[in-house]
Amino acid sequence: MTNRVKGDNLGTMKEIVEVAVGLPVFKTFHYRIPEKMKGSLQIGMRVLVPFKGRKVTAFSIDLLDQPPKGIEEKLREVEDLLDEAPLIDPPMLRFYRWISNYYLYPLGEVIKTGLPPGLQLKSELILTLTQDGMDSLDRGLEPIQEKVFREIERCGKVSLKKILKHYLGEVSRSQLFLWKRKGLLHIEAGIEGKEVKPKFEKMVRFQGGEPGQPISKKQAEILKWVKEKGEISYSELSKRFKSPSKSIQSLQAKDLLSFSRREVCRDLSVRSELKPYPKPKPTSDQDTVLSEIFKGINLKRFSPFLIYGVTGSGKTEIYIRAIEEVLIQGREAIVLVPEISLTPQLLSRFKDRFGENLALLHSGLGRGERYDQWRRIWKGEVKIAMGARSAIFAPFKNVGIIVVDEEHDPSYKQEEKLKYHARDVAVVRAKQAEATLLLGSATPSLESFYNTEKGKFRLLNLPERIEGKPLPRVEVVDAKKEGGLFSEKLRAALQKNIEDKKQSLLFLNRRGFANFILCPDCGFTFKCPNCNVTLTLHLRDRSLQCHYCDYRIQAPGDCPKCQCHRLQGMGIGTERLEQEIKSLFPEAQVGRMDRDTTSRRRSHLQILKRLESGSIDILVGTQMIVKGHDFPNVTFVGVVSADTSLHFPDFRSSERTFQLLTQVAGRAGRGEVFGEVVIQTFNPDHYSILRAKDHDYIGFFKEEIEFRKALEYPPFSRLINFRLVGNSEKRTKGMAEEMGRVGQSLLKKGYGKGIEILGPSTAPFAKMRGKFRWQMLVKGKNPSLLHQFAKELASRMEAPLKGKGVNLDIDVDPVFIL
Ligand code: ADP
Ligand code: ZN
Repeated sequence: MTNRVKGDNLGTMKEIVEVAVGLPVFKTFHYRIPEKMKGSLQIGMRVLVPFKGRKVTAFSIDLLDQPPKGIEEKLREVEDLLDEAPLIDPPMLRFYRWISNYYLYPLGEVIKTGLPPGLQLKSELILTLTQDGMDSLDRGLEPIQEKVFREIERCGKVSLKKILKHYLGEVSRSQLFLWKRKGLLHIEAGIEGKEVKPKFEKMVRFQGGEPGQPISKKQAEILKWVKEKGEISYSELSKRFKSPSKSIQSLQAKDLLSFSRREVCRDLSVRSELKPYPKPKPTSDQDTVLSEIFKGINLKRFSPFLIYGVTGSGKTEIYIRAIEEVLIQGREAIVLVPEISLTPQLLSRFKDRFGENLALLHSGLGRGERYDQWRRIWKGEVKIAMGARSAIFAPFKNVGIIVVDEEHDPSYKQEEKLKYHARDVAVVRAKQAEATLLLGSATPSLESFYNTEKGKFRLLNLPERIEGKPLPRVEVVDAKKEGGLFSEKLRAALQKNIEDKKQSLLFLNRRGFANFILCPDCGFTFKCPNCNVTLTLHLRDRSLQCHYCDYRIQAPGDCPKCQCHRLQGMGIGTERLEQEIKSLFPEAQVGRMDRDTTSRRRSHLQILKRLESGSIDILVGTQMIVKGHDFPNVTFVGVVSADTSLHFPDFRSSERTFQLLTQVAGRAGRGEVFGEVVIQTFNPDHYSILRAKDHDYIGFFKEEIEFRKALEYPPFSRLINFRLVGNSEKRTKGMAEEMGRVGQSLLKKGYGKGIEILGPSTAPFAKMRGKFRWQMLVKGKNPSLLHQFAKELASRMEAPLKGKGVNLDIDVDPVFIL
C-alpha cells in the first residue's frame, strides 16, 4: 500500500467538518463529526450527510475546532464516512476551488466533474411490500396494481424512480403513495447501491509443505500446477482444470493451498494497435526546441511554452522526450488530446514508448474501466495520464509537465454543466504545480499566440516538416464561377489519384444526405419542433433528423402542406457526397467517416484501418478526418465547401475556418509524394481562405488580431455569457428583461467604467431541445472586475428566478487568466 492510503493524521480530533455537496448549490455546509469518525475523517474524503430530507454524498473540504458562529445548535452529524483515504489532496482541492470560483460553478459539482463517475451515493425512495401488500396479491388486484406489486415482490425492493419509469403512463407517484397510505407499501429513503468499487479476483496460493496423506490424482495435478506458479487466479485455474473448486477446497482443508484476493484492473475496451515506434534521432530543429524545454523542466517552476509547428513537424516526439525528462525527475505527466478515439496513432506511439506506465482517461471507457484507470493514477502505479479534457483532473501528486496537443481544438471546451476549457485550466494547474506546460499546434488559438507576444508563453518554432517534406500545394476554386458540386479541378485530381493508386480525402462539414427538404410549390420546409432549425434528410433510413436534439421522423413522400409530390432535397451532406462520388467513379473504393458511420464502438478504427491498408481510394468525411492522422499514401485533399464554418454566427468563425482548412490540408502529402489540395468556396477572397492557401499562420494571425482589437473582442477583452433557458417563452423573455434591468443598475452603481453589456437578446439558437433561450453578453477588460460583476449579477438574479422554471447558465469565454 502506498502512503496515500494511510494518509496523515493532521487535525484528526476536530469537531466540525465543512463539506461541499455534489448538488447545484453554491453554499458549503457544516456537520458535527461523530466520536467514532474522529481520527479517521480527513479533508478530501467523501461523507454521507443528511440534506433536505435526503442523504447525499458530500466532500469534506475543511475541518474545524468549533462550529462557525450562530449555527451551533442546528448542526447535524455526519451519517457515514465513505472513504478510508482522501480522494482529493490539498493541491487538488485548491485547483477545484479555483475552477469553482472562475467558472461560477458550485464546488461540489466541480469536484464531481473531476472524479470518475460512479462515486456518488445518493438516497432514493425505495419501495417494499408490507405483509398486507403481499397478502393482497392473493386476493386479486387491478391489473396495473398486480403488475407493480409482482415486480416489487420479484425484486424484494425497487426504487420509486424505476417503477415510475418502467410503468410510465400506467402508474403515478400519487397512486403509489395512496397504496402506502392503505398500508400495502413501505416507501422509505434508502441508499442506491450503484457505487463503483475496485474489482477483485480470487487467487489461489501455494502454502508450502507436502501432502501428509494420499490425495486424488486431480488434486495432485492442481497442487503441482499451483506450486509451480506460487500464486494463480482462480479463473485461470478453472480454465485448465474442469470444475476445480471441490479439489481446491479439500487441498485448502489440508493447509496446502490458501485463498486470497487481489485487486485487478478492468480490461480496457479501447485498445490501440501496437506498432513499434522506434526512437528517432531528433532533428536539429527538434533539438533546439527540446533544449529550451529542458531548461524549463530543470527550473522546476511554472514554464509555459507554445510549440507552433506545422503539421508533420515532429511535435509528438518533442512531447515524448520532454515527458521522459520529467519522469527522470520523479514527477508525473498529463497529456491532453482532443478526442482520443480519433487519434489512435498518437496513442500507439505513447504506448510503445511508455508501455504500462500510461493510464487512459476518457468518456469512451466503461464506468468500471474508467474508475480503475483513475485508481492506478491515484495509487501512484502509473506516471502518465493521457486523455480528453477530463484527464486534466488526473489525481497525481506531483505533476511535472502538462501537454496539450492541438491546443486550438474546440472540443477542449465542455459545453454542458461545468463549461470549462481544458487548455485554460491546464495553464492553471501547471502554474499551481510549478510544472512545465507544452501547448502544441499547427494553428494556435489567437489567445495562445497573443500570449507569446505578451511574453506570457515562450514561443517555440518547428517551421518545417520532418525530412524537409514540402507542405502541399493548395488551390482555391471560386464556386461562383464553377457551378455544381465538383469543380473541374477537383474531379481531375480525384481521377488522377485513382489512376496513380494514391488515396484522397474529401472534406465536407455536414453530415446527412440533404441539408433540408423544400417544397418548390408552396415553400414548405420541415423544422424541428424543439429547436426551430431545419431537419436534415438521411437517406439510409429515410428519416428527417434534427442534429441538435436528435428528434427524428419518417421522411414523407408528399408535401404535408400542399400535397404536391415534388419535395426536393436542398444542400448537400456527406451521405449524398459519398453517393455522388460513387456514381462519378464507379471503379473506386469509397468510404465515409462521420457521426453516422462511426456510432458503433471501434467503427472509426475500422475505417482508418481500411484507409491505412489501402482498401479505400477516397474517404469522404466531416471534421473527423481532420484530426492528426498520418497516412503516407494520402496525396490529395479536397474541400467541397469551405463556407459552412465561415458563416457560423460566432466571432471565432474566421479562426475556426482557417484552422479547419489548414489542418485538413495538412493531411495531404505526408509520405514520399507531393501533396495537393483543392478548396471550393463562394468566398475565395476571404482572408481565412487565402492565408490557409499559403500556409501563412502568422499572416492570418496579424489580420485577425487587428479585427479583434478593433471590436474589442478576446483576447483584448473577456466575455461572459449569461444565458437564460426556460420552458415558457414568455417567462424566459421576462427574466431576460429583468436581467437586463439588473445589469444596467449595476453599471450605474459603479461598474460602468470597465464593463459593457450587450443584449439581452434571443440566443443564436433561440429554441433548443424544446427550451427557449435568451442571452446577455458581458464584456470587460479587467478580469477581476468582470468576475465581481458576474457574481453580483448572478446573486441578484437568484430571487427573481426562484420558481419561474427558468435557469441561468453562465458561460465564461475561454481566455487566459494568468
Ligand atoms: P506532428 O505531431 O507535428 O504533426 P509527428 O510527430 O506526427 O508530427 O511527426 C511526423 C512524422 O515524422 C511521423 O511519422 C514521425 O514518426 C516522424 N518523425 C518525427 N521526428 C522524427 C525524427 N527526428 N526523425 C525521423 N522521423 C521523425
Ligand atoms: Zn431539435
